[in-house]
Amino acid sequence: MKRKLRMGMVGGGPEAFIGEVHRKAARMDGKIDVLAGAFDIDPEKSRQMGETLCIEPGRAYNTYQEMLEQERDRADAIDFVTIATPNKWHFPIARDCLQAGFHVMCEKPMTMTLAEAVELREIVQKTGLVFGLMHNYTGYPMVKAAKDIVSQGDLGKILKVIVQYPQGWLSLPIERDGQPQASWRTDPKQSGAGGCVGDIGTHAANLAEYISGLKIDKICADLTTFVEGRPLDDDANCLLRFDNGARGLLHASQIAVGQENNLAIWVHGEKGSLEWHQENPNYLHVYGQDKPVHVWRRGNDYVAAKSPAAARCTRVPFGHPEAFFEAFANNYVNFAETIEAVMEKREADPLALDFPGVEEGVRGMAFIETMVASSASDAKWTPFSVE
Ligand code: NAD
Repeated sequence: MKRKLRMGMVGGGPEAFIGEVHRKAARMDGKIDVLAGAFDIDPEKSRQMGETLCIEPGRAYNTYQEMLEQERDRADAIDFVTIATPNKWHFPIARDCLQAGFHVMCEKPMTMTLAEAVELREIVQKTGLVFGLMHNYTGYPMVKAAKDIVSQGDLGKILKVIVQYPQGWLSLPIERDGQPQASWRTDPKQSGAGGCVGDIGTHAANLAEYISGLKIDKICADLTTFVEGRPLDDDANCLLRFDNGARGLLHASQIAVGQENNLAIWVHGEKGSLEWHQENPNYLHVYGQDKPVHVWRRGNDYVAAKSPAAARCTRVPFGHPEAFFEAFANNYVNFAETIEAVMEKREADPLALDFPGVEEGVRGMAFIETMVASSASDAKWTPFSVE
């Protein structure tokens, strides 16, 4: 590829959270330029954002529809669109981008409903365009190393997976004060059927499936809304069963006071276990029976030997921390190389295909809907009795 890929964005306006993370990550490896966008629901703020980013005047659009129409006719049109809007917009924007011939990188959860997710998968398959879904936690090198340790059999058959994602930032009703990120996340019309379970539970479920290589096939869930008057869950607890018979636990919370982004996972197999924490992401602990604990540290040759996928996603030597931005960038690098392969009509490097896509999006939406349905049923509850 003799040029950079050209990125357009929807969302990521002046007060937005994740849009700027996408921009920084996409540009990190010099393969992508951000050249156009409908950055905000408010056209004036979209224009302002364009100015801040030094976007060519006229390419900071009023709406995403205008961006698609005008970019299609340009010789230097954008190649793909990143969608970083609240959830309710993901499906219509992704559908319209694909139908206009643009590859898509979409934020999670992929859509508002499972039915929309299935429809989007059909569109992706029909158009043959590349679709990435930003489950960024699978972009960490030591998560990739963990996946390879499991898939190479070092832990033996997997028996149990425990995954948690506690946060505390929604423990008070800050949406009532108009906090921008809280307002739409707690509104089912903009967020979907899941609150906490959709916002961060999906990351936890995706991480459990990615590292273990297993699929969740049964769920027993208990969703709660602790903050009075909030229409969506702010806490999720769940028993999991996996397709190899393994058992699991998942908990996610946004009312766990004092917790920041404490995503962590424990995988227990017949021969060993592993443990990884997102807040200390350059280290992976691996345990065996009657053996010292092995601490695998990002950037070392033994990690590269075990996991070419981890080595490929490592930029600086050991001891210089890499984290959140780099994990996003790792998904972008693989996404970009896959787009280049499509453009050049060649097979992509198999390692470049290691980024979440439409299938993970469908599974995420199935996870949310199953969690909500399971929680609404009393079928599994046995009253505790001492009589
Ligand atoms: P935000 O409220 O901070 O920002 C949303 C932005 O989208 C705003 O600039 C808003 O004006 C803009 N917008 C809304 N509708 C639009 C439209 N129709 N056209 C153009 N712009 C529009 O939200 P956020 O926290 O950045 O979250 C955005 C998305 O990213 C959500 O789907 C969320 O679930 C996801 N997210 C993912 C991660 C992650 O770690 N992968 C982290 C945070 C958020």
